[in-house]
This record gives sequence, C-alpha cells and structure tokens, in this order.
Amino acid sequence: MNREDLAEFLFPNITKTVEDYEKLYPARNLEENARVTRYAPSPTGFMHIGNFLAVTISYVLAKNSNGIFYLRNEDTDTAREVEGAMEFIRHILEHYHMEPDEYEYRDTNETKGIYAPYIQSERKEIYQAFIKHLIKEGKAYPCFLTQEEIDVIREGQARDKRRIGIYGRYAKYRDLPVEEAIERIKNGEAYTIRLKSSGDFNRKFKFNDLAFGEMELPENDLDIPIMKSKDGLPTYHFAHLVDDHLMHTTHVVRGQEWISSVPIHYELFKTFGFPMPKYIHIPLILKKDGDSVRKISKRLDPEARMSYYEEKGYPAYALIEAIMTIANSNYEAWREGHPTSSFTEFPFSPKKMSASGALFDLDKLDNISKNYISRLTKEEVYEGVLSWSQKYDSEFYELLTKYKEYSMAIYNIEREQKKPRKDYTYFGEIKEKTWYMYDEYFDSSKIDFLEYDVEEVKKILTTYKSLYNEKDTQEEWFNKIKEMCENLGYATNMKEYKEDPTPYKGSIVDVTNIIRLTLTSLTTTPDLYSIMQILGSEKVLTRFDKMIAK
Ligand code: GLU
Repeated sequence: MNREDLAEFLFPNITKTVEDYEKLYPARNLEENARVTRYAPSPTGFMHIGNFLAVTISYVLAKNSNGIFYLRNEDTDTAREVEGAMEFIRHILEHYHMEPDEYEYRDTNETKGIYAPYIQSERKEIYQAFIKHLIKEGKAYPCFLTQEEIDVIREGQARDKRRIGIYGRYAKYRDLPVEEAIERIKNGEAYTIRLKSSGDFNRKFKFNDLAFGEMELPENDLDIPIMKSKDGLPTYHFAHLVDDHLMHTTHVVRGQEWISSVPIHYELFKTFGFPMPKYIHIPLILKKDGDSVRKISKRLDPEARMSYYEEKGYPAYALIEAIMTIANSNYEAWREGHPTSSFTEFPFSPKKMSASGALFDLDKLDNISKNYISRLTKEEVYEGVLSWSQKYDSEFYELLTKYKEYSMAIYNIEREQKKPRKDYTYFGEIKEKTWYMYDEYFDSSKIDFLEYDVEEVKKILTTYKSLYNEKDTQEEWFNKIKEMCENLGYATNMKEYKEDPTPYKGSIVDVTNIIRLTLTSLTTTPDLYSIMQILGSEKVLTRFDKMIAK
C-alpha cells in the first residue's frame, strides 16, 4: 500500500482535485493594480477597535484601487464560537458604511460573489481536497498523538528550555508505514492530519512585510496540525492558505500577533507553489494611562469594544477619521487639503504606519466628533440623536418624535454661523445638554439659587416678568434687562463694577444668571435670548410663575 491508498482511505468522498478548484476559482477580472482585501474574523468574541483598524485599512486599500473588499467568516473553531458575533460584525460594517463586495450571511441566507462559500465551515470539502493532495505527495500524515501525550512533550520541552512544538524527534508518526496508519484508524484511534514540514529552524528566509519592512525569520520546522480530528475542519493556518489563494487575495491585513506564524504560512504557500499575498501586519493599539502608554485592553478599557462608540453615539464619520489618523501619519495633512473627500480616496501607505504601536486618543476622537457635529445641519443633528435614542433611550426618542421642529430649533442655536457652537461631542450626550428645554424633564422645584437672596430673586423675577415680551428683538430684550438692572441697583458696566462693587447689589451677570437659572436650572447655557425664543412665552411665564410662587 502506498500514499495514494492512504489518501483514498482518508478521503474516499473527495473527488475534486486542487486543479479542479483552481479552475472553479479563476483569477479575478480586475485592473492591474487593483487590490483584493478581506476581513476574515473568527466569530469567537466581540469586535475590538484593533479589528476595526484592520477593516478600515483593508477597505481603503481595496476602494482606492477599484479593487474588492470581501468578508470571510472563519468559523472553524466551533468550540469557541460566540452566538451573535457575526451578526454584530455585519452590523458594524453597515454602520460604518464599509459593506463588503462579497459576503455570505447565514442569518438572512444571502450570498454575493463567485468565490463562495465565504463561510469556512461550508468549505470543508475544498480544504480536504488540498489535504488529500498533500497526503498523496507525502507532505502530510495522520498523527496519533493524544492531547495527554502532547502535554507531556510540552512540559518536557518547557523544563529543558527547548522550543515548544511537534518537530524532529517529537514528530513520532511522520514516518509511520501506511499500513499501520490505516490499521490504527480502522481500530477507531483518533488522529489529526499534520504537515510534514521540510523546513530547517536554523535556516533563515527573508520576508518583506509592507508595514514592518524586511525581516529575517527562521524557517518553520513544526509539523503543525492542518486538520482537526473531531470535525475534519482545517486549522486557521491551512484555511488561510487555501482561501486567500482561491479567492485571489492580494493583501492580507491582520494584527501583528500573526507575525510569528509567518514561517508556517511561508512554508504552506511554498509547499503548493502558490504565490504568497502581500502582508500588512498592523501594530497594537495603545492608549495613554497616566504618564505611561500601554496596550488597549478589552478588560480594562470600555473603548476597546466597538459597541462603545455606538452606545455613546459617536457619528460613524468621527470614528473613521480618528482611526485613519492613527493608521497613517500623514492622514491629517491630507484631510486638510481634501476636506470633503471620502476617506477611501486617501492614498494609504503601509510604510507610514507606526510599527511601534498606534496611539489611540479618545480626546482626539472627541475633538473630531465635536467639530463634525458642529458643521451638521439641524436636520442632520436631529436624525443623529433620533437614531441614537431609538436604540438607547426610548423615552427621549418619543419626546423627539413629538417635538421635532422644537428640537431642531434647539440644535440650531448658534449653528448657522461662521464659527458654530461646539456643544455636542456625541449624539448620546445631547439629552444631557438639552433636557431642560422639555417640560417633561424640567422641574422648577429642584432649582438651586446658590448664594442669591430669596427676596431679591423674587423681586427680579416679578419685575422682569412684567417687562418681558416674546416679540422683542434681541436688542430690545437686552435693553430691557439693562434698564431693569439700573432701576433695581445692579451694575451694567462690568468694568466699573469690578473696580468698585460697593454701590451695587450686584451686576447684570447676577440678574441674567437668575433668569437663566429660573428657565433652565443651569448657570451656563447657549445664548439665553435664543433659549427664551424657542421656549416661547407660555413656557417662559409658567417657569417664572412657578419660581415666584416657590
Ligand atoms: N480569523 C483570524 C482572526 O480572526 C484572521 C486573521 C487574518 O486576518 O488572517 O484573527
């Protein structure tokens, strides 16, 4: 019996060959320098900001070269699968307008693209055809090491300070005669399929990473598992080789934690004689923590999770801009010159990534977001708050729906001007900054007049109430307040007042503060005249009356 027999014995139902699959997955019909990139998540947890960096780079690379960005579901680790993870990823891609050109969605049963299936667990036969090929060539073999035996080997290696793994003399089944292998399998012994590595750890090869530059790495000599026994699915390494080859990926963008696996991937591609895609390993995302800088952590930092940004209500644009800023050091300069261009037009250069880590700064995100929201129209702000509240605050959502024009008028305060007000950092914060405009939330009994004398407050409010007229222009409104100040003994000239406050009870600032507190319960708000115009005389007078009565 020979290797051919072993291959047939292991995979009797696999009839297609590697050549057949190459024909079924022909080269893509794209322009010469078009890039084909992918997001290939394993649905084993929730999306991290580092994944978003990889997605954004992949998307930009594809889009600014008229290429293809596709989504591949790497679900071969069935034991670690987390329910809903893939749906969340799909949602994120939609939310940030980075929809893939090709995909397969299990929840809605939709597939787009001729390189389907895009879900790895549905590609088992394809991987097995490639594994069958290796078995025939004597480049892979069934291995009968049990998990316990592997643990013992690893403990020994750790104790003797040797490299960990199945290589050299530890790879005890690599030369097992075919008959014996078949016999063991017939007897029901569990096995995995391992690569029969031809590498030499003491030899080096050159590898050019587009971000990290050229490196010298040791060849792989590990007989890594390529197919798991329990479900016949491949390991990540093997699936990566087959899929990125058949789907004609030109650029693999992935986390730097994969650099240590490059020797394995290099050997796998070489074994089949396939060209390797280009690799862009992306640095870790760092954050400032006091005086030091550390890796952003899912456990410690809420902003490590992608859900954080939606919960807060950051506009999609703001997060993309913040991420692009850390993706390439010249992005901000480019943006200044191209204020209205889409980020996908940016000529991303992997060389301009910081290999030592990308510092992600929430203050910067806040700034970008604040500026962005300040330049939106009142309708756009309204839409933003509405869709945020629909998901996160149904009570506020109802109010917004009921008072649409009213709410938009609030958002328009000091907006349509050369330097608009920058009140709102994210949509989820808008309620905190405007709640007092709604009677449903406003409560006169909770107002604290601080150091002001109760009788004086009452006098000011009663006097002002009799002067107030909703129809007054801003100038008339202001003149009335000034006049009242003079009559009641409050300074209107702040310079004089500061030089000598003794002849006065207080200043115009105290008077407007009292009016402001009465109407809003706050000491700082946007323009008071605008607020009063929007509240309208009915609300204004009711709020005055409630306060006077109190
Ligand atoms: N499934 C791998 C992961 O989620 C993908 C790595 C890659 O992009 O090749 O980490």
